Amino acid sequence: MTRERVEVAVVGGGPVGLMVACELALAGVGVSVFERRTERVSQSRALSLHPRSLEVLALRGLADRFMARGQRLPLGHYAALETRLDFSVLETAFPFSLFIPQTVTEALLEARARELGVDIRRGHLLTRLEQFPEEVHLEGTCGGGTFHAAARYVVGADGARSAVRTLAGIAFPGADATMSLMLGDIVLSEPLPQPALVVSNLKGVLMIAPLGDGLHHRAVVLDPERTGVPVSEPVTLEELAGSVRAIAGTDFGMKAPFWLSRFGNETRHAATYRDGRVFLAGDAAHVHLPAGGQGLNVGLQDAMNLGWKLVGVLRGWAPEPLLDSYQHERHPVGAHLIQNTLSQSALLYATHPAGQALRAAMSKLLTLPTANRMLAEQISAFDVAYPDPVLPAPPGMAAEPGVTGKRLPDFALHCEDGVTRTLYSLLHEGRWLMLRRPSAGGPASQAVPWGRWTSTVVAEPQGGPEELRPWPSLLVRPDGRVGYVARA
Ligand SMILES: Cc1cc2nc3c(=O)[nH]c(=O)nc-3n(C[C@H](O)[C@H](O)[C@H](O)COP(=O)(O)OP(=O)(O)OC[C@H]3O[C@@H](n4cnc5c(N)ncnc54)[C@H](O)[C@@H]3O)c2cc1C
Repeated sequence: MTRERVEVAVVGGGPVGLMVACELALAGVGVSVFERRTERVSQSRALSLHPRSLEVLALRGLADRFMARGQRLPLGHYAALETRLDFSVLETAFPFSLFIPQTVTEALLEARARELGVDIRRGHLLTRLEQFPEEVHLEGTCGGGTFHAAARYVVGADGARSAVRTLAGIAFPGADATMSLMLGDIVLSEPLPQPALVVSNLKGVLMIAPLGDGLHHRAVVLDPERTGVPVSEPVTLEELAGSVRAIAGTDFGMKAPFWLSRFGNETRHAATYRDGRVFLAGDAAHVHLPAGGQGLNVGLQDAMNLGWKLVGVLRGWAPEPLLDSYQHERHPVGAHLIQNTLSQSALLYATHPAGQALRAAMSKLLTLPTANRMLAEQISAFDVAYPDPVLPAPPGMAAEPGVTGKRLPDFALHCEDGVTRTLYSLLHEGRWLMLRRPSAGGPASQAVPWGRWTSTVVAEPQGGPEELRPWPSLLVRPDGRVGYVARA
């Protein structure tokens, strides 16, 4: 039996697997994606990309491709409360949600992966996995036969029913679904009173928003009379339209369904994101009610966090324990995601009089700018920070409490050669970046132990966050977060 050798095997060619693969291939790592489906599905579960995900894409020079295919909406939602989340208060080049069907997101990521030379194997279903000290063996079926591969590391990005997670023996504790909601991608014959409509009353909760393709809208409906229907039971247009009429008084002339489906609030979180040489990312690591549109977004950010760390260890510029920081940094993010979707689940289900009163109180609270900011930062993942340094500080530099691990927005830099560049444009290659002020001495990249994976730029920031002003140089992580600062 021939066992093909790859550096990293990514199982699952959904958005998260493709994103990990892009991050690895960018650094020249040999990566193969094993995807069971022969074709991409035509329906889109996710619709929204939130501000941090757009920044993540911009960090790799990909945001424009996505912006060209989606529709910007400055408002998000928390549990479909009447007061919408206002992302426009966030300090970012992307203070909005981008409505873009998941099929388009996947197509764009796949195109990027192919540009970078990722080997994508469709029609490959993983069925066995065994870990050894130096590698992992994978086995599965393809085209009526079997495949055998050996990889230094395996990334399980194979979704909620992850085979990688099961085969690695990683527990997935949580709770089964207790309710189901209906979804319909339909054509509306009547206009909506607002571009994205939210209605909530004793009859249920309704959200309707553009699908982003210029033709369809997505209706999501929680009808308390129908939340006990199992997710496996098909939805009919009449059932969906009937519930919409009960809640909104009209069904907006919905017709021509492209996709009708039911989904639930099953909530689970992997006990660990790492077991030896096996990692989990995306839905393989966390599943929850898709409230606020977060699963794909968080998964893309898992992918970026894991990618550069695997690169560091595989290319020998970082010690192996760096890989543990993936669990350390991302598991708490998954735990918060679970908490905020559980909270939204309770609010969404509150269609009884007491629940409506609670929703009204929450909605009123959300009119307070601080409350809006707190939840907008939560849903957009701007509240994520990693205060603990992941590698020992380079000579002359230190981790700075309250600064290390924070995301940096994009800002202009007047560079030594007279050209003005943006911070993110200097991170497109996924390397560390030493940013030095012209007048400041301070360490150059040669002083950094992982200097061969660090670029140095001498530049004067034009704007940028206030808290960075005091430092003459800054070492920025490949994911656009502050690593270390040097004092003058
Ligand atoms: C109704 C609904 C609306 C949503 N809306 C949003 C939203 O607006 N925003 C948002 O961020 N998220 C949203 N989500 C969640 C989002 O769809 C998921 O979080 C996202 O698809 C996760 O991506 P993934 O790559 O981790 O997993 P998946 O997209 O599930 O991809 C996993 C891939 O692995 C493959 N695979 C599985 N098993 C194997 C195997 N054994 N061998 C090989 N390949 C395998 C599958 O075929 C699949 O292609 C929504 C979800 C639902 C249900």
